[in-house]
Amino acid sequence: LLQLYMPLNFLGSVYSSIRQSFVDLEQLFSLLGEHAEIEDQAGAKTLLAHLGEAPAAAIEFKSVWFGYQPERMILKGISFSVPPGARVAIVGPTGAGKSTISRLLFRFYDVNQGVITIDGEDIRHYKQASLRETIGVVPQDTVLFNETIQYNIRYGRLTASQEEVEGAAKFAHIHNFIMRMPDQYNTMVGERGLKLSGGEKQRVAIARAILKNPRILILDEATSALDTRTEKDIQQALDEIAEHRTTIIIAHRLSTIVNANLILTLQDGQIIEQGTHTELLHKNGVYAAMWAAQIKEQDHS
Ligand code: ATP
Repeated sequence: LLQLYMPLNFLGSVYSSIRQSFVDLEQLFSLLGEHAEIEDQAGAKTLLAHLGEAPAAAIEFKSVWFGYQPERMILKGISFSVPPGARVAIVGPTGAGKSTISRLLFRFYDVNQGVITIDGEDIRHYKQASLRETIGVVPQDTVLFNETIQYNIRYGRLTASQEEVEGAAKFAHIHNFIMRMPDQYNTMVGERGLKLSGGEKQRVAIARAILKNPRILILDEATSALDTRTEKDIQQALDEIAEHRTTIIIAHRLSTIVNANLILTLQDGQIIEQGTHTELLHKNGVYAAMWAAQIKEQDHS
């Protein structure tokens, strides 16, 4: 029994540290066999995960309070709603709680107060496996396995055919790059293989998300700057994949969210402003100041 217990315990601690970093967690959870920190309720419902099986999802946060420790609340009464198919961006200074919002949506933690709903139903009433299947993430920093580029893309949906993998790669604007690699789709990447740039890794993440075809997409924008051309290409792919899907963008570069249906400015765990880009500029508040600062920065670079 001890022998069996030890590796499980080890996995538990690996799980804790990985949970933070948003490393393609959905699949990881199934690999770890649904580590039961948060249990499904008896009679939990199945959320339809893929676009096509059901239309885009509606998301709502109602007076959500949450702290990693009870004595330090990180989100303090957050309320917002994302209509089906809409694109909502969350902006705000580092440490404001932006990523925490997406961790709660995935239900890595339960809220202390308030409720989060998808399609009008408390997410605690859904089976976790189906909840995580419903949400795709394009993370800030994609982890690649020491495997072929093909495997790394297929990781989005392990049953995808070669054709589907290539289709997703084309969509993510990485197919041509792959075809120029020494062994094309069989080229080894990762630490021990060909190293990919930040932009290339993001495209792999986009291709994975396309294969997964989730009803909800979370884009955790990279803080590191990409060159303008790459950025434009990636933006185009992201715009395409976000189309018809309910999308939450954790934004660092405000230029990418000008067309969002709703922008939330988060500061110290509270939404201090919300509206469209134009509305927020008119308010002349925190968002307008962040916008002015980024324009100035661009002018100087
Ligand atoms: P950034 O723009 O830098 O990514 P963010 O707005 O996404 O920041 P969060 O990652 O949501 O910020 O973190 C909000 C706060 O919660 C921070 O003060 C952070 O230190 C704290 N925090 C995050 N994870 C944990 C954890 N596991 N335990 C305790 N505190 C945490």
